Amino acid sequence: MSRVYNFSAGPAVLPEEVLKEAQEEMLDYRGCGMSVMEMSHRSQMFQNIIDEAEADLRELMNIPDNYKVLFVQGGGALQFSAVPMNLMKNGVADYIVTGQWAKKAYVEAQKYGKAVKIATSEDKTFSYIPDCSDLPIDEDADYVYICMNNTIYGTVFHELPNTKGKTLVADISSCFLSEPIDVSKFGLLFGGAQKNIGPAGVQIVIIREDLLRDDLPEWVPTMLQYKVQADNGSMYNTPPCYGIYICGKVFKWIKGLGGLEAMKKRNEEKAAILYDFLDSSKLFKGTVRKEDRSLMNVPFVTGDKDLDAKFVKEAKEAGLENLKGHRTVGGMRASIYNAMPKEGVIKLVEFMKKFEAENTK
Ligand SMILES: *Cc1c(COP(=O)(O)O)cnc(C)c1O
Repeated sequence: MSRVYNFSAGPAVLPEEVLKEAQEEMLDYRGCGMSVMEMSHRSQMFQNIIDEAEADLRELMNIPDNYKVLFVQGGGALQFSAVPMNLMKNGVADYIVTGQWAKKAYVEAQKYGKAVKIATSEDKTFSYIPDCSDLPIDEDADYVYICMNNTIYGTVFHELPNTKGKTLVADISSCFLSEPIDVSKFGLLFGGAQKNIGPAGVQIVIIREDLLRDDLPEWVPTMLQYKVQADNGSMYNTPPCYGIYICGKVFKWIKGLGGLEAMKKRNEEKAAILYDFLDSSKLFKGTVRKEDRSLMNVPFVTGDKDLDAKFVKEAKEAGLENLKGHRTVGGMRASIYNAMPKEGVIKLVEFMKKFEAENTK
């Protein structure tokens, strides 16, 4: 068996310890004679798995008691619909569009009410976070929406927007558990597991209780009503059981490493190795404004398409996989999520140095 360093943006690398544990428990989970995949979601065994996952997540993120944690399906993309369906009371919401995911959410919200783009960085291919200190927030806005970490473009909100008292909603798919976050500043947080937390198919929603409504319009699908999911402990129907089980293991892995402060330190160290090299390189350069750089997704280019392609190909041959950038940015992107070991980033930079020496005159 040989494992590569996998820089995929998602589904992405998982901690090897977690995969091994899952492997050991695959056929017989803790003496019950079956896999978690084969188990009734109504069994006590599974109830313990989901309860423990939730408790560990609450501890890691320091989630206040007046927030519900929901494990749901449908990906980030379905939350783009669920958020306006559940939160638009006045029928107005403000969107800060800092990338493709925020844009998709903004476009989707227009189906359900008046979604207003109050700021964007599209003029420069989303390579920065706009100033959000004094935006024209609508008086009737039910919420202000951001995508916290822009997976494709490699930017992150280091400072939260001034929402002028309105509820803040954030998609945290690609920075979930990468560093501490003050949950109390948000009305709702959501994120898909497949970037930083577990396998595809699980979506975690953290929602303040006063935003759970039982006066939703008839047409809102039952499955998409946060209140229904909350009242049923995420088990209105069969939840993504196996995915939740793996997420739970990742939460334990993070706790074992010292929690989110420790993850932040690790992630800062890893990112610095790559950014420092990019800043000194004659061949490669980062595509993002320095102060808005993400710790998780690092896009870079050589400025020459053919050379970029050559780099991606040769990197793959050297065991460094999935470095091709998103089709809208081109070049390369290294996603260095929680589970990417420091050695992986060191290996990548060593390879970049070698490539630079071989390809500059
Ligand atoms: C990947 C991603 C999504 C989309 O997730 P799906 O599960 O594919 O729907 C949404 N938002 C962000 C920030 C992402 O990185």
